[in-house]
Amino acid sequence: MQKGNINIQTENIFPIIKKFLYSDHEIFLRELISNAVDASQKIKTLAGTDKFKGEVGDLTIDVKIDKKNGTLHVTDHGIGMTAEEVEKYINEIALSGAEEFVKKYKDVKNPIIGKFGLGFYSSFMVSNKVEIITKSFKAKSKAVRWECDGSPAYEMEEIDRKKRGTEIILHISDDSKEFLEEDRISGILNKYCKFMAVKIRFGDKSEWVDNKEGRKDKDGKIEKVE
Ligand code: ADP
Repeated sequence: MQKGNINIQTENIFPIIKKFLYSDHEIFLRELISNAVDASQKIKTLAGTDKFKGEVGDLTIDVKIDKKNGTLHVTDHGIGMTAEEVEKYINEIALSGAEEFVKKYKDVKNPIIGKFGLGFYSSFMVSNKVEIITKSFKAKSKAVRWECDGSPAYEMEEIDRKKRGTEIILHISDDSKEFLEEDRISGILNKYCKFMAVKIRFGDKSEWVDNKEGRKDKDGKIEKVE
């Protein structure tokens, strides 16, 4: 088990992220889905090149609520990350992006948040702990579990997992329990994640496809969208 501190130069940004722009907390899901879509598109691009000879398989992104454990899960079968990549992209790059964002908009009264991505760390607006379980497409790479409870301390360890891709597990905070409600989550998916290039499945209810005509339900019926 590796323990470390996310490198924060100025201050602890988590309390700021947490309080930041109260009414726009829901954007965390759009950020996580767009990362999952990117990772899925990257594996499609790599397929057939020298870099990846394996099977792409089903790339459907799953969004699941686990009410009993108070968690929300976003799972993709994209490129995944190695331990070194988690270190670099999550502990360093993603954090500095979030830090820059917070610094820039902290003093602005009504920033148009929809236009700016806070990225992965926006999940701390609604969570008291976030886990990443990920396995890279790269041959012989080991799966990794990363966890952070909203303090600058994180933990990272190798785990046993065969499936390629990334699962983000949000342990939803008491003041954000609305994000454990199906209607709330399907509303957000409908608002921000309609015409994504990769299928998104929420529970076993509906399936969204990249389809300009509308949304397909599980029976294949197309529901018109405005
Ligand atoms: P951005 O998506 O704008 O680059 P994020 O903070 O959301 O910023 O994510 C930082 C980086 O972490 C991504 O660029 C990507 O390299 C990596 N990452 C995040 N989520 C995933 C994922 N689901 N699968 C693979 N890599 C990911």
